[in-house]
Amino acid sequence: MGKDQTVLFHSTIFGPIHSRRLGVSLGVNLMPDDGKVCSFDCLYCEAGYNAQGAGTTGLPLREQVRSQLEAKLSRMHAAGDPLDVITFSGNGEPTLHPDFPHIIEDTVALRDRYYPEAKVSVLTNSTMIFKPEVAEALKKADNNILKLDSAVEETMRLIDRPNSPGFTVEKVVEGLRRFEGTGIIQTMMLRGTHDGIAIDNTTDTEIEALIAAYKRIKPREVMLYSLDRSTPEEKLVKVEKEELAEIGKRIAEATGITVVNA
Ligand code: SF4
Repeated sequence: MGKDQTVLFHSTIFGPIHSRRLGVSLGVNLMPDDGKVCSFDCLYCEAGYNAQGAGTTGLPLREQVRSQLEAKLSRMHAAGDPLDVITFSGNGEPTLHPDFPHIIEDTVALRDRYYPEAKVSVLTNSTMIFKPEVAEALKKADNNILKLDSAVEETMRLIDRPNSPGFTVEKVVEGLRRFEGTGIIQTMMLRGTHDGIAIDNTTDTEIEALIAAYKRIKPREVMLYSLDRSTPEEKLVKVEKEELAEIGKRIAEATGITVVNA
């Protein structure tokens, strides 16, 4: 577990990080500074397994997030620094924060004031979309990036390991449909083994199931990505760029939805 700890974000506001895809992105971590809180426990989580614990700092309060974000944005603005996007990610699932809807409102207001051209993006694992206030808040973000790693129940449970037995593929696909074309579905493509069990969400059966799910959800976009950094389960294999592109092409042709390979 030691190495997993090193990839935690140790503050509420982090960055900005420069990436070719997102541009200049300022990160917001609504989870603890020294632990992880998530309703999934993905084998590939860059923040490590949930077993490391929630740390000691607790969740930042709404007012702390607002004032720290404002301080950072005003400093960047005064310095003439560019900003393309404010991204909610961090040490776990941002929508688990009890004040998530208000924090999104504050963030949109601060964005409008300091960087009206910048986008607000939220990376979410889709477990909280059944709460109307969370769904509404997500719709206020410019990009709500919603996780769907497999449309096969057994595979989703193996890869994402949801805390709740009540969270099912059928339920989440139904919930994702309610975003009515405003959401971006993000799928991590991978293969490997965990506890001796083979995992592969790139097989024909898996891709066909994903295609059927994407057709039902009708998202604005599908974003495929693959492993980038070290993962808590070390027996996972990266799906290389060329293969990811082929899978993306197949999905785009079958669904008519724009597929981006991140
Ligand atoms: S949903 Fe995200 S934060 Fe949660 S375990 Fe999976 S990768 Fe990690």
